[in-house]
Amino acid sequence: MEKKKRIVIALGGNALGNTLPEQMTAVKITAKAIVDLIEEGCQVIVAHGNGPQVGMINNAMAALSRENPAQPNTPLSVCVAMSQAYIGYDLQNALREELLNRNIENIPVTTMITQVRVDLNDPAFQSPSKPIGHFMTEEEARAAEEQYGYVTKEDSGRGYRRVVASPKPVEIIETGAIRSLVEAGQIVIACGGGGIPVTLKDNHLKGAAAVIDKDFASELLAEELDADFLIILTAVEKAAIRYGKPDQQWLSHITTDQARRYISEGHFAPGSMLPKVEAAVKFAESKEGRTSLITLLEKAKEGIQGKTGTRISSPM
Ligand code: ADP
Ligand code: MG
Repeated sequence: MEKKKRIVIALGGNALGNTLPEQMTAVKITAKAIVDLIEEGCQVIVAHGNGPQVGMINNAMAALSRENPAQPNTPLSVCVAMSQAYIGYDLQNALREELLNRNIENIPVTTMITQVRVDLNDPAFQSPSKPIGHFMTEEEARAAEEQYGYVTKEDSGRGYRRVVASPKPVEIIETGAIRSLVEAGQIVIACGGGGIPVTLKDNHLKGAAAVIDKDFASELLAEELDADFLIILTAVEKAAIRYGKPDQQWLSHITTDQARRYISEGHFAPGSMLPKVEAAVKFAESKEGRTSLITLLEKAKEGIQGKTGTRISSPM
């Protein structure tokens, strides 16, 4: 029998929605896309974002400590852990049902609470840029800076928000556990929200006030699991050059060299398409035979069949 293709998929915001009811509905469509890949004979590991979810949890926990002074502020790392469990629950539930609907009864689904090590010397810590949580007035922002050591910034005329660093992922602490489950034939959900950021001191892992980009964390996960494919599922079918302009051109199959040229020409928006293309290039160049694909959630199956999406491979 041909060896199964191992695929890490990275789910974007559209796979999960923005509210509890939206997520409940969205995961049904997401589960279909994932089980399509299982039916194509692939081994699937699922990573995902958590922007709206961790924002929601962070705000709820902040409200709790405002209401009850005995409840101290919840560290962002704990909020990420909570978001992994919440999203994992909805995905496990939807995947189980979709598998059973297709008479697939022998594939268990597990969510791995995943810690990802970041480096305190990462330059990102010197310039926190990622806004998270609720909006504050200037006075509230000053008070939060004093009380909690937050860094806050004015956000496009809408008020002040906390900003945190977005360092690069260095090591996935639970890789061994994830690999065991994958090799036992399970679908594993891991690295949710880019992982719980931690820093290492001696044997102690300490939660960091940071968020890791899920596209980069998924890339590292794909490398560490020796995957064949990294598939970044998002809200567009393909990446484009001159995106949104009259002479826009969708990209179907490009080499990592072409991708790098388009990156340097500024075709991909920072914070949305740029990290995807950067992660795709890194994975495709990490070892011979590795391919990256960026496509629409609903097109995952056609993407893996080579019918659509932006495929990035290295000419080596
Ligand atoms: P996700 O939640 O999946 O990470 P993002 O919103 O972060 O989604 O990134 C995907 C978005 O990137 C697309 O919906 C599109 O609007 C935007 N985008 C920016 N530049 C490009 C480009 N050059 N080609 C295609 N999409 C682009
Ligand atoms: Mg994104």
